[in-house]
Amino acid sequence: MTGSRLNFRLEARAAGSGARAASFSTAHNEVHTPLFMPVGTQATVKAQMTQTLEDSGSQMLLANTYHLLLRPGPEVFRRIGGIHGFMSWKRAVLTDSGGYQIFSLPHSRAMSEEGAVFQSYIDGRTILLSPEVSIETQAAIGSDVMMALDQCIPSTADESVARAALGITQRWARRSLAARGESLQSLFAIVQGALFPELRRESAAGLCELPFDGFAIGGLAVGEAKSEREDLCEFTAGLLPENKPRYLMGVGTPLDMLEAVHRGVDMFDCIIPTQFAQRGAAFTSRGHLQIRRGVYKFEDSPLDPACACPTCARYSRAYLHHLAKTGESLGWQLLGQHNLYFYHQLMRDIRASILEDRFLALYREKREFLHASDVDHPTLRARPPRKKSRALGDFEVHVAWEGFSSIRQISSGEIMHSRTAPMDEARGLYVDQSGLALRLRLEDRERADTAAPLVVWDVGLGAAANAMAAIACYEQAAAAGPVRPMKIVSFENDLDALRLALSLEHEFPYLRHAGPAGILAEGTWLSRHHEGLSWVLLHGDFLETMTAAPAAPDLIFYDMFSAKSSGDPWKLQTFRAILEACSGRAAELYTYTCSTANRAALLAAGFYVAKGRSAGDKVETTIALTPEAFGAAPRDRHEWLASDWLRKWNRSAAKFPSEMHTDQQPDFERVILGHRQFQDS
Ligand SMILES: [Zn+2]
Repeated sequence: MTGSRLNFRLEARAAGSGARAASFSTAHNEVHTPLFMPVGTQATVKAQMTQTLEDSGSQMLLANTYHLLLRPGPEVFRRIGGIHGFMSWKRAVLTDSGGYQIFSLPHSRAMSEEGAVFQSYIDGRTILLSPEVSIETQAAIGSDVMMALDQCIPSTADESVARAALGITQRWARRSLAARGESLQSLFAIVQGALFPELRRESAAGLCELPFDGFAIGGLAVGEAKSEREDLCEFTAGLLPENKPRYLMGVGTPLDMLEAVHRGVDMFDCIIPTQFAQRGAAFTSRGHLQIRRGVYKFEDSPLDPACACPTCARYSRAYLHHLAKTGESLGWQLLGQHNLYFYHQLMRDIRASILEDRFLALYREKREFLHASDVDHPTLRARPPRKKSRALGDFEVHVAWEGFSSIRQISSGEIMHSRTAPMDEARGLYVDQSGLALRLRLEDRERADTAAPLVVWDVGLGAAANAMAAIACYEQAAAAGPVRPMKIVSFENDLDALRLALSLEHEFPYLRHAGPAGILAEGTWLSRHHEGLSWVLLHGDFLETMTAAPAAPDLIFYDMFSAKSSGDPWKLQTFRAILEACSGRAAELYTYTCSTANRAALLAAGFYVAKGRSAGDKVETTIALTPEAFGAAPRDRHEWLASDWLRKWNRSAAKFPSEMHTDQQPDFERVILGHRQFQDS
């Protein structure tokens, strides 16, 4: 028998995402993905009865071969007839190979080609765990899905260690298949390769040649940075066959799973729901919360008003608070059931959104929310000072009283997006105001592969809010219909702001995307989901790097720090250089400033200048058009600066650029007063 024993059916793929919905058949039930598997280490999910697991919607449990091999031992399963009858669980079970536990033992193991020899922590016996012993044990346990023994290494292992582990894992994979023989139990292989894409590719290629029923992405739950994990998860998922399930082992939080589904993963396991429950922590639709906090003592409402789980149907927060405070095991049990239900409900919601092809919208909405803590009772206690990690170079994290985080330049004290959350301001001021979504849409006769790309210059990358808002806009537009390609060119001389924000991604959720890590590492990023979406970073002084830009702009998001912290970006000569770089294109520049001096410099450089909408603490912002754009735009599309602005400029103390010599001032004045923009008004 060579084909998949699971009869895996891919039912839908989400537009603009790697997310998939599928079903497969085990000997015990039909399983629908995306799937979360509660962890039943000792043939029990901690503090849960099998009945409550069924009520929570668990479809498949994970059991640990290592623990069950030691106790009760395979002989018990052989005599009793397998784990399903043993623990009274009628649905599917997946067993791991035991490798993960053995390789995480701090000592007393010896590795060879044959297998791993270790000492039982129960009776001191010496036990060999070979691929054959692992499969025999899993066969005795009687799981629906078995895992092949692999040599686990930390994801941070160096390349030679990772390469050696790959060879052994590949040979053990063949031995595992041979040991499985004609058994009807399914068998998954585990792709290793640490953080080396080439090794991941080799590992996947070798294993995919063999008749496994599914593939796991191993070695990605500990040790690496989250963005690295997400990137490599996406990369590895892309190496795996479409028609087999993909399982990311040991992951994770609700947000981790959402991100991994987006990257093409179908199955997960993690101890978090029950482990958090034991500590009094619960996931809810109003954010995650710690039930021991005093604020819940008198709350007669359910744990989560939006939850349909048995705990929320019967018990109040006040009661759960009391159980947690007194250390009663019922508290652990009830919270655990709720948390498992929350996990399963998230998977059900994700699945429904994929089947109805609205996953990306759900993804965006959940991504912004899943990391939040109780929104009704925010924790007021100050964060513990972690000075070192909250500042980098000339930048530090600033937390506004409204609760969102921004980046502050230490030397100038200036905050990027000071009064609104970074993404809100980026959307309002740059993406929406420039009509980006409309510009991306293709005309009826145009084709995506021949349409000219829309080039966006993102001047002042900062913490990448504007670029990410543009990318989100593109992804949304692409999900809705055909779009032209978009090329973002970011300019930045100091990348520490982005590095700092990336290191604190819970505070900057919009950075949870492969793009920012990609441009930091490579200077360029190509979307794996959208052929037309690319991003280039030009690192250095803007005036110098401008000439190296790969394409002239259609849109310029001009978000440099204001003049008092850095003079050059707002000088007449800079605007002249920008206009020249537009090389006769109908380009539009959007910027947060509304200062008279900056507007005068734009006019003097040859731009046509209009008032932009208010944003953050600015009543007005500024839009500047090249002559070609001015000629093409309907006159009433913008509110152009007119005679009232000229009067204001005439009275202004900043009438002339501060660096301008007095004998150049008459010329400057003549250019502004004679600007064509003011001739018709
Ligand atoms: Zn509940």
